[in-house]
Amino acid sequence: MRIVEIIETKRDGGSLTQEQIEWFIEAYTAGEVPDYQAAALLMAIYFQGMDRRETVDLTLAMARSGDQLDLHDVVPFVVDKHSSGGVGDKTTLVVQPSVAACGVPFGKMSGRGLGSSGGTLDKMESFPGWTADLSLAQFKRQLGEIGLVLAGQTAKLAPADGKLYALRDVTGTVANVSLIAASIMSKKLAAGADAIVLDVKLGKGAFMPDLASARELARQMVDIGQDAGRKTVALIADMNQPLGHAVGNALEVKEALATLNGQGPDDFWAHCLEISANLLVLAGECDTVEEGKALVTAARDDGRALAKFRAMVAAQGGEARMVDHPDQLAQATLVEDVMASREGFVAGIDAGAVGWSCVRLGGGRMEKSAQIDHAVGKIIPIKVGDQLHAGDLIGTIHANDPDSLAFARAELRNSITWSQEPVAPLPHFYETVM
Ligand code: URA
Repeated sequence: MRIVEIIETKRDGGSLTQEQIEWFIEAYTAGEVPDYQAAALLMAIYFQGMDRRETVDLTLAMARSGDQLDLHDVVPFVVDKHSSGGVGDKTTLVVQPSVAACGVPFGKMSGRGLGSSGGTLDKMESFPGWTADLSLAQFKRQLGEIGLVLAGQTAKLAPADGKLYALRDVTGTVANVSLIAASIMSKKLAAGADAIVLDVKLGKGAFMPDLASARELARQMVDIGQDAGRKTVALIADMNQPLGHAVGNALEVKEALATLNGQGPDDFWAHCLEISANLLVLAGECDTVEEGKALVTAARDDGRALAKFRAMVAAQGGEARMVDHPDQLAQATLVEDVMASREGFVAGIDAGAVGWSCVRLGGGRMEKSAQIDHAVGKIIPIKVGDQLHAGDLIGTIHANDPDSLAFARAELRNSITWSQEPVAPLPHFYETVM
């Protein structure tokens, strides 16, 4: 096969055969196709697009490019979730133990922060000693023993995607829906889940800016999952304001623990309930999402979900006593309340700006090797539609140096827009794609 012919076919709007796609992925992963030719093909795909069959073939070829987990020797059925990223998105920390507490095994490989979105592993590392660095044998043993495991993604999982993602990043070819869908789903398929719920966010703090693009990404990922024989559902959720109140690693862990104790913010709990209940339906634990919500609420109310979370922290080497004493998690030295200087209705809270502000406080990485400060971040108790008066609390900043505190204070004020007229609250979920 000749790579130039493959590039030309796509450049001229043709469709690539399964053999061509498989050959390209194998050859590129093995280093036999150079980056400049792979980049040319990516750009041709970016402009000409791929149909459903090509997208599925690309996804499956990338999923097969490395290790493929088969977890059925330890559990009969396993579920997973994926979030397309968001600000204040600590959903996995609540959904995973809640679903596992309802008897459904949940094995997950997660990532670190990307841009303004925080990463689940960075949040969990707020527990001293906790590690996501698990061998496949450890992953399986823990899944079999306690029904939940949260590991870092190894370089051996879908390595073709790892290489192609890095190339897309520097060649202006990330933002093609088929390439994004194939990239995300190749990792999910390789990680071995039988059922997957995709949490697709839209808005200022998300990858997809609007409903049309979120719907297209959701549709393509669900099609891929179903064509690959996995039960797959996508939920399209809002990310025009932070999810819950807390943004920042240890602060989000505390909010997740409060939620598992029945004291979390309403929007965040509603989000977790929806995702968890859909997973229970896919796993056959119940027939309807409403029944699923009742099961998840019961697991929260009698402490089973929190017990699963505690067991996961302990199994992965973390200080499990902090689950019951969140005040012992990292605390910032400077904590300052910021008050409204005017009255009006909250018309917007720019989630992307809040996320970047948290990165600048030290809670995320400006460069790959940067160390995370787990203690810093913001608590923003207001939501779009709230009516506020001068002097009302709009946020609390947690910082570890005075300069970044002053900067974060200004950024918090700038991230809020006001209206003198009443503003409708934002919808939480837009639709389910199945
Ligand atoms: N996340 C991924 O894993 N891949 C993409 O292409 C975009 C977001």
